[in-house]
Amino acid sequence: MEGSMLTISFGNWMELPGLKFKDWASSKRRNLKGDRVMPEEIARYYKHYVKVMGLQKNFRENTYITSVSRLYRDQDDSDSQDRDISTEHLQIEKSKFVKRNWEIRGYQQITDGSPVPFCLFAENVALATGTLDSPAHLEVEGEDFPFVFHSMPEFGTAISKGKFHGKVDPVLIVGSGLTAADAVLCAYNSNIPVIHVFRRRVTDASLIFKQLPKKLYPEYHKVYHMMCTQSYSADSNLLPDYTSFPEHHVLSFMSDMKCVLQSVSGLKKIFKLSAAVVLIGSHPNLSFLKEQGCYLGHNSSQPITCKNNPVEIDAYTYECVKEANLFALGPLVGDNFVRFLKGGALGVTRCLAVRQKKKHLFVERGGGDGIA
Ligand SMILES: Cc1cc2nc3c(=O)[nH]c(=O)nc-3n(C[C@H](O)[C@H](O)[C@H](O)COP(=O)(O)OP(=O)(O)OC[C@H]3O[C@@H](n4cnc5c(N)ncnc54)[C@H](O)[C@@H]3O)c2cc1C
Repeated sequence: MEGSMLTISFGNWMELPGLKFKDWASSKRRNLKGDRVMPEEIARYYKHYVKVMGLQKNFRENTYITSVSRLYRDQDDSDSQDRDISTEHLQIEKSKFVKRNWEIRGYQQITDGSPVPFCLFAENVALATGTLDSPAHLEVEGEDFPFVFHSMPEFGTAISKGKFHGKVDPVLIVGSGLTAADAVLCAYNSNIPVIHVFRRRVTDASLIFKQLPKKLYPEYHKVYHMMCTQSYSADSNLLPDYTSFPEHHVLSFMSDMKCVLQSVSGLKKIFKLSAAVVLIGSHPNLSFLKEQGCYLGHNSSQPITCKNNPVEIDAYTYECVKEANLFALGPLVGDNFVRFLKGGALGVTRCLAVRQKKKHLFVERGGGDGIA
């Protein structure tokens, strides 16, 4: 989220255990104007949280994971959650391998920018890589031209670098979600004319604007109002600030910065642009896993997505149904709000603590070789 935007959630919905967001804000003399907050305030709160809770030692900054692969596969992964003491004996025998369930490879970018590769082993891995890494594409001709952006930060940077200064051609914004609405507001507030294209009707009940109370989200309702009232009609030209194109899609982009739009009835229209911003959702990048992680989803033949095909997990432990000792949380399992993440983290921690306790109990009773 960019610049002057506000979070969808109230600040205290996104706080973490043991440090109230309001207490942090008042200790830092931050002036909270309302219940919704600036995304950068929340980001500062999280950084501070890591410090005051003494968690820095658990973080590795600028570190990229390139591969997570299984080293040793248990004969019977499926019942690994409820091992009894007799099967535990076998487990302890194999414990040297079990400790090395996963091989993780990656690199850390050091201060001069050079990558330092590493390889480590882990008994368990928790995936918390979100679903924002690969913006969705329209898959139309010309989408790779440099004037076509696929994220808000790219668009925000172009605006702040003055790339649209003095330009009269509109920016095309594609999408009808909140990120597209953020882009519309961003352009509108920077006096950049907007062509807003989306496939749905403005009356579509599933549009997100219909689910947000007007009083709490006035800026999004302003966008929705424009979507409804400033639509393009064949006998009028583009409006000076904003024109919506409901039930339209992009057919192609051309090298001379033009785009071809098509209505649901098949009518085509060409416009010259100063840029295009495609904001139609994003996918996780699980390229570091076997089969790009697809096999972990509810539908294992499709890529993982937050809404339609999240990673399939046990509802209590957050362990992947199709892969023992691999856990997933957050948007990867469909929990797309910060307040839901805590449940995931707690579920994983509890499961690991219970398993650890079981192992210790067994070792104390004199079983195994003492390796737990
Ligand atoms: C515009 C917008 C507004 C939002 N507003 C709200 C709101 O108001 N309230 C709310 O509760 N939620 C909001 N959300 C949702 C919220 O941001 C997510 O629920 C939350 O960020 C999920 O946290 P996460 O840690 O699971 O994933 P992310 O925050 O996506 O973090 C995943 C991290 O993993 C890193 N990563 C990915 N792959 C690798 C790899 N191979 N190696 C190393 N690192 C990797 C990514 O770079 C990223 O830093 C919003 C989201 C968006 C996009």
